[in-house]
Amino acid sequence: MSDCIFCKIVEKEIPSTIVFEDADVLAFMDIGPIVKGHALVIPKQHHDPVTETPDEVLAKLFLTAKKIAKAQMNAFGAQGVNIMQNNGRAAGQEVEHIHVHVIPRFEEDGHHWNWNPK
Ligand code: IMP
Repeated sequence: MSDCIFCKIVEKEIPSTIVFEDADVLAFMDIGPIVKGHALVIPKQHHDPVTETPDEVLAKLFLTAKKIAKAQMNAFGAQGVNIMQNNGRAAGQEVEHIHVHVIPRFEEDGHHWNWNPK
């Protein structure tokens, strides 16, 4: 899509710090990281939201998120990881090109939020 910022990142029209790339997906550093090492994984093809995204694309996104999470643990010594994906403005989505956040977590990272609503 011509007006999609993540499509422009795929096309290298906008610079990004790429950490993984293959024929289907791209992983790059989030420009506004929640904690150091916060990465995003996107499909190269434009899809959105999750409910309209083909199963094989979702599978590839999650498998790539797993790869990035392992790298964060090995490279930075992350003790945990949040893997999350927002859909719709009500859920906090800002960029309408499906993306998975992969956020390394450390015991003392100062972010004591968690996603357990209980
Ligand atoms: P969302 O709220 O789930 O849609 O997350 C969008 C994410 O994209 C946010 O964490 C932003 O910081 C990030 N973001 C927006 N523009 C760019 C960019 O140009 N490069 C890298 N990350 C971006």
